[in-house]
Amino acid sequence: MKLQTVKDVDLQGKRVLIRVDFNVPLKDGEVTDDTRIESALPTVRYILDQKGTSLVVMSHFGRPKGKKDPAFSMAPVAKRFEELLGRKVKVASDVIGDAVKKEVADLKAGEVLLLENVRFYKEEEANDAGFSKELASYGDIYVNDAFGTAHRAHASTEGVAHFLPAVAGFLIEKEVKFFAPLLENPDKPFVAIIGGSKVSSKISVLESLARTCDAIVIAGGMAYTFLKVQGHAIGKSLLEAEYLDVAKSFLAKAQEKGVRVILPVDHVCAAEFNEQAQVVSVDSVDIPEGLIGMDVGPKTLALVDKELKGAKSIVWNGPMGVFEFDAFAAGTKAVAKMVAECTGTTVVGGGDSVAAVNKFGFADRIDHVSTGGGASLEFLEGRELPGIKALEK
Ligand code: ADP
Ligand code: MG
Repeated sequence: MKLQTVKDVDLQGKRVLIRVDFNVPLKDGEVTDDTRIESALPTVRYILDQKGTSLVVMSHFGRPKGKKDPAFSMAPVAKRFEELLGRKVKVASDVIGDAVKKEVADLKAGEVLLLENVRFYKEEEANDAGFSKELASYGDIYVNDAFGTAHRAHASTEGVAHFLPAVAGFLIEKEVKFFAPLLENPDKPFVAIIGGSKVSSKISVLESLARTCDAIVIAGGMAYTFLKVQGHAIGKSLLEAEYLDVAKSFLAKAQEKGVRVILPVDHVCAAEFNEQAQVVSVDSVDIPEGLIGMDVGPKTLALVDKELKGAKSIVWNGPMGVFEFDAFAAGTKAVAKMVAECTGTTVVGGGDSVAAVNKFGFADRIDHVSTGGGASLEFLEGRELPGIKALEK
């Protein structure tokens, strides 16, 4: 996959329309985590460094459900963006309409205008052509750097690309650079660690990765459905009975392809699913009646470590256990550390997995920590992301 980026086009003197993902967490009017703003800055700075450029920035924020709602205004986000960028950011009065047209037309070289929340209009998520065209009228060229929403075909992420020359920003370029080889030609051995809650939400990822990987670790809540298929006792652990056949045929296909599947061989359990539950270590694959598998045990972690030792490519999606509860976070923390210490190329994607590597402080030792939860999952499933596909024309 070769994407055109901001570096492949002449931006001099242009008004650039950029889509970013500034859907940041907010508390009492303050941005509590500015990772998403930070990750758009290299592209924003590059564009503003080109001679005579001005910038119109668009993003969604929260779910205002297609209506103008001051609670979802971009103003607090603009404030943080301005501080991080170190130059004035104007906030537009709206998303579309004559007033905004004038605000855009009045932009001088070097100036930045952040449009109001694109989701103030239902036309955004409906990918309405008229709305897309109006957004497109704000720029000479469109840059998409919103990886977090690239799996959605909305007006500001996809529609607008049909009306303007369209290129990727550095964030999308980086995400694609790390994810695409995993599905095409990964450096081998390639080990995938897939955890999380459900077989139903991860089976497509497993099937997609089984085409290129040498080994797959299956852990988290979904592992028990697989263990059940193998005839093991799983106590009161999470079971998706309607996915037993799917899990069974996945295991058969993996074996046919020569992909090693590593399932938990020991567990950290509890009798109740809650934070204060008494921790019970179970030193066998089988889980005694009445217990819930909440995390993987030390023998399982040793197996994962062994797989990771010589690996050249590693992808991790989905926590090993219920890491939100301190008593059951050890497996996820240990894997985060192992991945961080890997010499191969390491990629982590998925909302909760990324939260875990951040929480445990390993993010800066991992080659790529994806900024898109849903988008990274769909990428790993081998699906085309509309926001990226629209840049490939
Ligand atoms: P990601 O967002 O990284 O793709 P998922 O959303 O698939 O990950 O899964 C994360 C959730 O899986 C977490 O909330 C975690 O508590 C849950 N989980 C992990 N292990 C278990 C388990 N053994 N039983 C129940 N839930 C689990
Ligand atoms: Mg999740």
